[in-house]
Amino acid sequence: MESTLRRTWAEIDLDALEHNYHALRKQMGPKSRFLGVVKADAYGHGAIEASRTLAELGAEYLAISNIDEARELRHHGITLPILQLGLTPADQTAEVIANNVTQAVWNEKVAEAFSAEAVRAGGRMKAHIKLDTGMSRLGFQCDEDHFAASVDAICRACALPGLDVEGVFTHFAVSDEDAEEHRAYTMLQHDRFTAMIAALAERGVHFQICHCANSGATVSYPQFAHDMFRPGIIMYGIGDQADVLGLKPLMTLKTTVGTIKEYAPGTTISYGRTFRADRPSRVGVLPIGYADGFHRALSNKWRVWTPGGCAPIVGRICMDMCMVNLTDLPEVQEGDEVEVYGPHNSVTEAAHLAGTISYELTCAVSKRVPRIYYRHGQEIGRELLLRD
Ligand SMILES: *Cc1c(COP(=O)(O)O)cnc(C)c1O
Repeated sequence: MESTLRRTWAEIDLDALEHNYHALRKQMGPKSRFLGVVKADAYGHGAIEASRTLAELGAEYLAISNIDEARELRHHGITLPILQLGLTPADQTAEVIANNVTQAVWNEKVAEAFSAEAVRAGGRMKAHIKLDTGMSRLGFQCDEDHFAASVDAICRACALPGLDVEGVFTHFAVSDEDAEEHRAYTMLQHDRFTAMIAALAERGVHFQICHCANSGATVSYPQFAHDMFRPGIIMYGIGDQADVLGLKPLMTLKTTVGTIKEYAPGTTISYGRTFRADRPSRVGVLPIGYADGFHRALSNKWRVWTPGGCAPIVGRICMDMCMVNLTDLPEVQEGDEVEVYGPHNSVTEAAHLAGTISYELTCAVSKRVPRIYYRHGQEIGRELLLRD
């Protein structure tokens, strides 16, 4: 499988994770625990290595979004507490307990089901109560119409046998948006969150860990630090707000110039003939395509970074290859490395051009792209996600 390494690969800079970790901790203050969100294979960066680094740096918690992701981390020796943010079928409760996972509990019915399964398994399941303060996804509803009923339901849920309720949390819908309307909505969500915690305290229900801040809130509302904060995208140094805190991207997606050809004016490039050379042109073929996660919507829009300057993508991105215009970059030769996304060529900007968000582009970097990890400036491991 060594052969694939010269094709297209993703370098993951764990020193950048260290830099970002300290910047985020500083932003949120010494009292708030750091929960690193490593779901979706750490947004495509590699959950095992990201988690090991976070553990070494002193993070207190990790989060994933399905039980198999938690099992993978445990299997590779990660011992930090892990919060399962997502849906888990109640018949997996024994698995949750066996892997020492903390499960989000999003309504009374599922609390009862988890409780019954935990009792049956003879164990106890750690839980955080999930509040829906306005995201309208998972959680006990906290708007005016549902508030009182949710207080009662949460009190009953917390008293169920087999559950150890450690925390309570909510998730923001627009904490990364600056418009006044969005700021007001975020404040409303936060008010509902604190009101619910206060109402439960009055009923004698207390939580060790209250948390709400995702990346957007970490940047824009550090006053929402509470007992823990949950950065995802900005921890990886990407997204619209990463620059605000001077964060560094972990991922550099690289490929090589496979072959170069010269074309006469009028020649069309790739499927659909969407690019036509208007002058004698020198065009390189890169071994990266949409099957590697290089979004086809970037056809004729994005560019790759070469040490001599940027080379625009010309024509449609194919499954396994794409073409770049090297006419103005005569120094670029076959075999040269180029950066598809990374510190010189922002994935956030690529995402805007593709009509999506940076999350989607890094998550999409596919399993045939080997990840190569760097720590303290040295390569510490390679991971090829294809079966051997
Ligand atoms: C994914 C997720 C996060 C992290 O979101 P970012 O925008 O990447 O910071 C935090 N909390 C919950 C509940 C999530 O699902």
